[in-house]
Amino acid sequence: MTPQQPFVIAGGGVGGLTAALALAQIGRPSLLFERASAFREVGAGLQLSPNASRILRKLGVLDALMDLAVAPKYVRLRRGADGADLARVPFDDAEKRWGAPYLVVHRADLLAALVDRARSENLITISNDSALTGFIQDEKGVAVTYRFDGEFRRASGAALIGADGVRSMTRTRLIQGVADQPAYTGHTAWRTILPAAGLPEAFLRPVANLWFGERAHLVHYPLRGGSIVNVVALVEDAWRGEAESDMEFWDNEGDRRFLMNRFKDWCGEARELIGAGETWLRWPLFDRPPLDSWSRGRVALLGDAAHPMLPYLAQGAAQAIEDAAALAAAVAANEHDPAAALSQYSAARAARARRVQEAARAQGQIYHLAGFKAFARDAALRLSTPGLLRGRQDWLYAQ
Ligand SMILES: Cc1cc2nc3c(=O)[nH]c(=O)nc-3n(C[C@H](O)[C@H](O)[C@H](O)COP(=O)(O)OP(=O)(O)OC[C@H]3O[C@@H](n4cnc5c(N)ncnc54)[C@H](O)[C@@H]3O)c2cc1C
Repeated sequence: MTPQQPFVIAGGGVGGLTAALALAQIGRPSLLFERASAFREVGAGLQLSPNASRILRKLGVLDALMDLAVAPKYVRLRRGADGADLARVPFDDAEKRWGAPYLVVHRADLLAALVDRARSENLITISNDSALTGFIQDEKGVAVTYRFDGEFRRASGAALIGADGVRSMTRTRLIQGVADQPAYTGHTAWRTILPAAGLPEAFLRPVANLWFGERAHLVHYPLRGGSIVNVVALVEDAWRGEAESDMEFWDNEGDRRFLMNRFKDWCGEARELIGAGETWLRWPLFDRPPLDSWSRGRVALLGDAAHPMLPYLAQGAAQAIEDAAALAAAVAANEHDPAAALSQYSAARAARARRVQEAARAQGQIYHLAGFKAFARDAALRLSTPGLLRGRQDWLYAQ
């Protein structure tokens, strides 16, 4: 490998862009191919936990976000049926305890901060409207094909990083297992953004709110200094994504009446919030099984392509950001051997990502309990001290 050979990155989401920045920080060039014609994120919020904000700070991205971010003082846990308060998990000392802030940001703001930073970096070449369609590798490097303006083109580099999301083409070609196809989890996220004007003051406080119900839960928090409120309703449902159009993640408008009916037994405050959303976008959640290894020779996976996860620990993007930092560390440690670097990166990350994937799934089950089990969960939460609940986040955030 000559030092100038770039890393090819498929996908310009949070994972791909952060990987390009992390590689640039160690002096490695990259060619990033994004199939969308422009960088665009949906109108929705994202929790940026300290394990991720710490890395973004080192990459020079966090400052640009701070004016637009909200730092929730705590997470408020409530019961959906009657609005009863169950517990509070304090986050106001995140910087002191975990060495970085706990933030909520608009996805578009995070993506814009990453893109701006990447565009200011000479070592990163970004190509939009460029969908990677295939790759081959040998002992000298990787060759990729991509589609641009209706034509197939070629590029080459030291290695390929597949950061192309849960429906990753890179993963499908790399793993080639029938059992490895993306599968609907039976869970769907419905999301909306509400203007703050007209909403009760309680919805605008710098607090992340989490409500539990039977086979459903609700999350909301203010964004952009409290000018808008992000609301996500997560439900288990019978939808099975049969139509091809249903397979898209984004911008898939759902019928609000379904949601109102689904939450009809919840307390008035929760129903008020749901009723305030005029347009709800439906986001079916897909999964792929955990992998023991994310690399094969000079090709490796990163982010949702490597470890798609249910959003119940709010960790998908955070784990992609951790991947990017680990990738750069492994490349720096194996300067002349990309395959060894990717193997080391995969070994460093796979066990932790699997643990987070599994913990997120288990968390969802706890949120969605019914009957006596829900009663026991609520009683346990009420007996827990805020310090105990905060301490349970250490394994995730202190990393
Ligand atoms: C309801 C919900 C709430 C969430 N909340 C949080 C949260 O609070 N905190 C958190 O950390 N995470 C959260 N997540 C998870 C987070 O959104 C994802 O894990 C994260 O966006 C994954 O980033 P990625 O870059 O790996 O993939 P993606 O964001 O999917 O990006 C992949 C990119 O690759 C491009 N692409 C695909 N195929 C190709 C190709 N062949 N060639 C070129 N480009 C290609 C796509 O256009 C896309 O831009 C949430 C998820 C959901 C569903």
